Amino acid sequence: MKTMLRSLLLVALFASAINLPAAMKALIVDGQNNHDWKGTTPHLKKYLEETGLFEVDVATTPAGKGDIASFKPEFKKYKLVVSNYNGQDWPKETQAAFEEFVRNGGGFVSVHAANNSFPNWPAYNQMIGLGGWGGRSEKSGPYVYWEAKAAKVIKDIAPGRGGSHGPQHEFAVETRDSSHPIMAGLPTKWMHAKDELYDRLRGPAENLTVLATAFAPKEKSGTDRHEPMLMTTTFGKGRVFHTALGHAGGGKREAQQCVGFIATFQRGSEWAVTGKVTQKIPADFPTAEKVILRQ
Ligand code: ZN
Repeated sequence: MKTMLRSLLLVALFASAINLPAAMKALIVDGQNNHDWKGTTPHLKKYLEETGLFEVDVATTPAGKGDIASFKPEFKKYKLVVSNYNGQDWPKETQAAFEEFVRNGGGFVSVHAANNSFPNWPAYNQMIGLGGWGGRSEKSGPYVYWEAKAAKVIKDIAPGRGGSHGPQHEFAVETRDSSHPIMAGLPTKWMHAKDELYDRLRGPAENLTVLATAFAPKEKSGTDRHEPMLMTTTFGKGRVFHTALGHAGGGKREAQQCVGFIATFQRGSEWAVTGKVTQKIPADFPTAEKVILRQ
């Protein structure tokens, strides 16, 4: 009997081994952020894990004035790095290792204020395409926005600050590239939960694809333009997914509880690694009229 059980167990193990692809290793980087990284990282980790595609580690930098020189994650052990980090510069050696990781085909996902980081690190700014704050200006690159009449992306070299936002509010996110694997099958317009609508981002904007935008109205201190919210870039062989969505602070993280944020984060993460998206559209995806949150 024991032998039979053992054989059955072996058969079951073998079956699961051939049916399930090995999980891809992902690393979330956090530790310094003017946003609630302690509250959001566990959820970002869970969102990646619930796709069944990822096995996730977290690398946390020393806090504030800590010894950043000791921050040396082994990026090359991973297929994907997700940044939930907005803090002091990493050591040169760590920056070089990260550049090598992405250049050699590693996937990278930048979440919300991660695009505020590293204004003076050229390769990082190439990866994110656009960034804000940290003294960003016309020297950082053009403004990028969607011109609705011409239905195209505009790069605008007008001088001015890089990065601003008005009061948080719910806003519609509109697809601008419905054929892209990250966007394919999603509603072309959906309501996003209360969030900061980043505008006036600037950067090198090379190899940049604007996947989705949101209109930033003047009455909410916006630009009266359709601002990029979801983007991709490439850096060497690496693919980057950049979501400007996802503010969290003051005990609230509804922008990251939005199913639109969650699903695009999950899809963008898969695409950054494989260039494809195999995930189904969640049944509770928000509509053009209705914000939908998860716990
Ligand atoms: Zn924010």
